[in-house]
Amino acid sequence: MDLPRLDRDLTTPPPIPDVGIERAATLMSSGRLHRYGEAEPGEAEVSRLEDEFAALIGADYCVALSSCGAAMAVALWAAGVGHGDTVLVNAFTLAPVPGAIAHVGATPALVGITRDLTIDIDDFVRVVRSSGARTLLLSHMRGHIADMDRIVDVCNEGSITLIEDCAHTLGATWDGTPSGRFGLAGCFSTQSYKHVNSGEGGLLVTDDEDVAARAVLLSGSYALYGQHGARPPAEAFARHQSTTPNLSMRMPTHSAALARPQLSELASRVDRWNESHDRLATLLRESVSVPERDPKEGYVGSSIQFLVDGLTDEQMDQWITTAGDHGVHVKWFGRPEPEGFTSRYDHWRYIDDLGVGASSDSVLAALCDLRIPLDLTADECAVIARVIAGSIETVRP
Ligand SMILES: *Cc1c(COP(=O)(O)O)cnc(C)c1O
Repeated sequence: MDLPRLDRDLTTPPPIPDVGIERAATLMSSGRLHRYGEAEPGEAEVSRLEDEFAALIGADYCVALSSCGAAMAVALWAAGVGHGDTVLVNAFTLAPVPGAIAHVGATPALVGITRDLTIDIDDFVRVVRSSGARTLLLSHMRGHIADMDRIVDVCNEGSITLIEDCAHTLGATWDGTPSGRFGLAGCFSTQSYKHVNSGEGGLLVTDDEDVAARAVLLSGSYALYGQHGARPPAEAFARHQSTTPNLSMRMPTHSAALARPQLSELASRVDRWNESHDRLATLLRESVSVPERDPKEGYVGSSIQFLVDGLTDEQMDQWITTAGDHGVHVKWFGRPEPEGFTSRYDHWRYIDDLGVGASSDSVLAALCDLRIPLDLTADECAVIARVIAGSIETVRP
């Protein structure tokens, strides 16, 4: 078969605006890369990011951290989750999510997923009953947002604390409300492959002043928490200062300098991503199954997922190799061993009870994933769709 070739790398991260590079360079020249100053207030870069990010999401408080994984561990800890607790998490997620649960000494309990790649809410209700868990760490994996009205109802009825993993939903909404605003805390990432790129970085938002104060203290604020942006009142720090350990998970100033100018670019990035995403989705639907989006979901299409049904593992491996030979490197969640960033829940063997049921397993066995770079062109979308459809045709019985 004569397939075209894609001559570009789909994993190109979003670029850093020049003002961010210049500001980071100035900070590097001065040596002032730590967020706090001792003799006098430090460079305000990280606290400004906290102020700006809180305003962007519409939250009262924001704490900058070293990663989203750190933000999730800190959110759990600040919510009072620790040894002996069980934390529910949807089975389609990224390794740092169960990792954050393990970090605080708690035990992850997996909840099944639907063909639309969101948490299976009926299974959520079932696992709440069977596990007695009081916390849900809901991962909006690859930007797929579940019915948040129902999730919030179930959480309220069962007194379940909800913490959102928004690594892929910065800029996304459910029924007009920003992702990260539905539970006790929302955790975001500024790692290079997310929507704002500072290399590494995490941001925790909350309206709860005790959670905010504990998160600041856990992040490693010494006695300098007064230098934080979007911080809770002094009384909240007074309540927690002497009983909260310093976990040393701060964001450095140059990361904040790289991130800040990208916040104002976010809305235009979302438009560009969604244009490519929707174009690809239309083309791919001719040959594969692309998950449906709820009309209430204001998603950010920075990647696209699709299911290829009815093939054996060997056939999957074969067509993915063919597509790769034509420059389209598809990630597949069905591999027996983890590859790159693509691992599946049963690769995390430190979790005891790994089963989530056959329907979730069959979704993951068919699930493929591609990143969408910001500058993808319409022609490149057409090439990608032709390579994928043509490669699958070579193995379809
Ligand atoms: C990237 C990612 C994380 C972790 O973010 P880091 O900042 O790298 O720790 C968590 N959840 C999801 C869904 C992610 O994609």
